[in-house]
Amino acid sequence: MSDITDYAAAGVRGLAPYKPGKPVAELQREYGVADAIKLASNENPLGASPRAREAAAATLDEAGIYPDGGGFALRGRIADHHGVAAEQVTLGNGSSDPLAFAVEVFVTPGDEVVYSAHAFALYPLLTQAAGARGVEVPTTAGYGHDLEAMAAAITDRTRVVFVANPNNPTGTRVGASALRNFLERVPGHTLAVVDEAYFEYARDLDSDYPDASAWLAEFPNLLVTRTFSKLHGLAGLRVGYGLSSPAVADLLNRVRPPFNVNAPAQAAALAAMDDAEHLAASLEANREGMAQLEAGLRERGLDWIPSVGNFLTFDTGGDAGEVHEALLRQGVILRPMGEYGLPRHLRATIGRTADNERLLTALDRALAETGRR
Ligand SMILES: *Cc1c(COP(=O)(O)O)cnc(C)c1O
Repeated sequence: MSDITDYAAAGVRGLAPYKPGKPVAELQREYGVADAIKLASNENPLGASPRAREAAAATLDEAGIYPDGGGFALRGRIADHHGVAAEQVTLGNGSSDPLAFAVEVFVTPGDEVVYSAHAFALYPLLTQAAGARGVEVPTTAGYGHDLEAMAAAITDRTRVVFVANPNNPTGTRVGASALRNFLERVPGHTLAVVDEAYFEYARDLDSDYPDASAWLAEFPNLLVTRTFSKLHGLAGLRVGYGLSSPAVADLLNRVRPPFNVNAPAQAAALAAMDDAEHLAASLEANREGMAQLEAGLRERGLDWIPSVGNFLTFDTGGDAGEVHEALLRQGVILRPMGEYGLPRHLRATIGRTADNERLLTALDRALAETGRR
């Protein structure tokens, strides 16, 4: 008898699903610890702005009706923010949506997709699901995107090239002139996707960090993605967007599921954009927490990859597996980096002062337990 699972698309059959950070409740269940903290998914430790929460809650009175499928108000607000037309905005259930739409629209089996080594896990995943060939380009010595080599890796078959700026999980970024030169080299038959999930953090930490959305008018094959999951603290509501030429946005919107951004998420995103105070406080907490973690790692003689995001990826001084386990036993959840080709590294999200302190203390014990200190 034939088995339906044998008929899954070839790309999907070979696929390993995306592994998210371990949820706190799961750790508490498995390890029997009571007060676990999670610094594993680059969430804003201050959470959502109170104004965003209120706005989301207010929509629940109308939970029985569909949201605005076109996202009129939010799209308009995002367009104003970037000085582009609303027709250039594609709303997403997180920015994962426009990233997926890009592959769905432009990539067919046998095509090529170019991305960097140690880059965001979604890129190879989407590529494989589409039955395309992923071309992973080695990084520079400092784990940064090698844009020269990435441009050189683009062939006639390349439909999408992904640039994560800054990159997760390394926290590295490419500067303004390097990115511009790269975009000038991307041929017209390839969509250049610049993933700016950590845009605001990078802007805050580095004056040479570029806003690729400013170049949309010059590059009709450019897609810039942004999210409300990170600085805006709305990861649980799932809202993000893509910015592109109107023609590319029109294509992306054809595959966008109807009502992909729900009403609470639309309302919360609008309110979050207007809460300058909460955004500034979140950036300040990140700067301070980053300095705190860097100082703590330095004291412990551990190396890290300099980051312009809200996370820090550090070298545990050997295989990271047992240090990761020792931290879990103490109720501290970080993200192991083996699947990103960095088996010695762990990624820590910058948390609140007390959480960072707890991580560093737990790290002392983990290093002692594993005989590294
Ligand atoms: C977190 C993240 C995203 C998007 O996440 P969403 O919650 O879907 O918006 C995109 N790219 C990178 C590099 C990320 O780290």
